[in-house]
Amino acid sequence: MKVMAEYIWMDGHDPTQKLRSKTKILNKKILSISELPNWSFDGSSTNQAEGNFSDCLLKPVWLCKDPIRGEDNILVMCEVMNADGSIHVSNTRAHLREVAEKFAKENAWFGIEQEYTFFEGRNPLGWPEGGYPAPQGPFYCGVGADEVFGREIVEDHLDVCLEAGLEVSGINAEVMPGQWEYQIGPLGPLEVADQMWISRWLLYRISEDYGVSATLHPKPVKGDWNGAGAHINFSTKSMRQKGGMKVIEDACEKLGKKHEEHIAVYGAHNEQRLTGKHETCSISQFRYAVSDRGASIRIPMQTANDGYGYLEDRRPSANVDPYQACAILIETTCS
Ligand code: ADP
Ligand code: MN
Ligand code: MN
Ligand code: MN
Repeated sequence: MKVMAEYIWMDGHDPTQKLRSKTKILNKKILSISELPNWSFDGSSTNQAEGNFSDCLLKPVWLCKDPIRGEDNILVMCEVMNADGSIHVSNTRAHLREVAEKFAKENAWFGIEQEYTFFEGRNPLGWPEGGYPAPQGPFYCGVGADEVFGREIVEDHLDVCLEAGLEVSGINAEVMPGQWEYQIGPLGPLEVADQMWISRWLLYRISEDYGVSATLHPKPVKGDWNGAGAHINFSTKSMRQKGGMKVIEDACEKLGKKHEEHIAVYGAHNEQRLTGKHETCSISQFRYAVSDRGASIRIPMQTANDGYGYLEDRRPSANVDPYQACAILIETTCS
């Protein structure tokens, strides 16, 4: 019997790493990650090596069903290693692995809201050729062919994510027409980040079939249009228990002292999005507040009412690397 395993990895593209994948044919059904062999690729074609010393290694770290190929076929998330087996500089997961293990007793949970925008050619999907749709207002969570564009792709993507076993918690149409969101979580740090990368791969892959591309650019259309973010909802065990509100406020104080370090790993071109308009806080300020969508960190009303729960970091942009973002959130708030 033959099984198709799609090995997926992050390349060395600068400033935003992209996804790459290739198919390995195996001769037996795979039940666990340890059965999968390492593989190699040409790092000189992915900005991960020089041509004269070009081999990089793919180390399988997480797998799920391949909902597109079906049957026993699988999708495999990989870490990139140097030819000698050491960690490649582009491998951001390796650091999260260490952080997750070091702070395992905190039992951190993450729920990531992935916003994205469909493009057909040079225009966002559904936008009139060479022009603009009506101003923002009716599109968020809208219904009707004049309000939302691309729902058939969105539904297909949701189906394959669920079929793959990903922990999707919801979807919605966003403020700008052609823009959508899905959420993954709550899950632990490695789980949420691996699933986020696989769900992004599925989004690009499903969109191919429609001749449409999905972009994670934080400001896909300049001007008076909402950007695209990836809010990270975050909690530790002590935040979720009685008295958690105090732990959440302490965490916010710590986050304020490391604002620049966080912004540095929250996605490229984020300054175009974090303007202080369109439900964001300016990139040069840090504020936290209950129920405030214009703050850097929002504490949900429910959390304030209960006295425990979670916080929402609204700063990460749609193109954030969840490995880096989850690692720094744990390091800043739990140290
Ligand atoms: P918003 O109101 O900001 O649009 P969403 O409903 O889109 O929020 O996303 C909230 C995310 O937070 C979901 O993925 C949800 O699973 C996650 N979440 C809920 N509770 C927690 C928690 N205690 N810790 C971390 N994430 C959580
Ligand atoms: Mn949301
Ligand atoms: Mn949103
Ligand atoms: Mn949000």
